[in-house]
Amino acid sequence: MLKRFIPFAHAQSIFEIDLSFYKKLGIKYVFVDLDNTLDSYKQATPLARAKQLKEILEKNGIELIIVSNNTGKRVTKYSSELGVQHWSSLAKPFAFRITKIMKRLGINKDEVIMIGDQIVTDISCANGAKIKSVLTEKLVPEDQPTTRFNRLFDNPLRRKLKRKNLLKDWRQI
Ligand SMILES: [Mg+2]
Repeated sequence: MLKRFIPFAHAQSIFEIDLSFYKKLGIKYVFVDLDNTLDSYKQATPLARAKQLKEILEKNGIELIIVSNNTGKRVTKYSSELGVQHWSSLAKPFAFRITKIMKRLGINKDEVIMIGDQIVTDISCANGAKIKSVLTEKLVPEDQPTTRFNRLFDNPLRRKLKRKNLLKDWRQI
């Protein structure tokens, strides 16, 4: 049961992850959650740090792709501004859409990593799709109502994973 929730690695935030981490693993695609991973759900357009991240990755041959459970309108506006591919209403934790997207884009399982702030959606989905994942902490304190509900499961799970030493810092990979 717990196995489904164990991330490949853990980071405080996506913005602290060094390029060498992706290079070492041979990552070419980063599936990134939007709300509270890249920006606050209240942030309609990307802040400078998200733009910077996208550019650095791009320069190094790594494509950032937004995979969000949020609605098309929200995801499209943000992603277009960032200039990245995006998929909305993704139904994470279910892995079928992610698997379909990978097939459509011709992405191999070993060249992609999923990064997100929620165990019950992002990490569970990545494990279901059998791809690597990085669990992050919340970027900002505020969450949308559905996420606030998810945190009731996420918080105790996170504590349990920490206690059992199952959250491996990305620097230790
Ligand atoms: Mg999120």
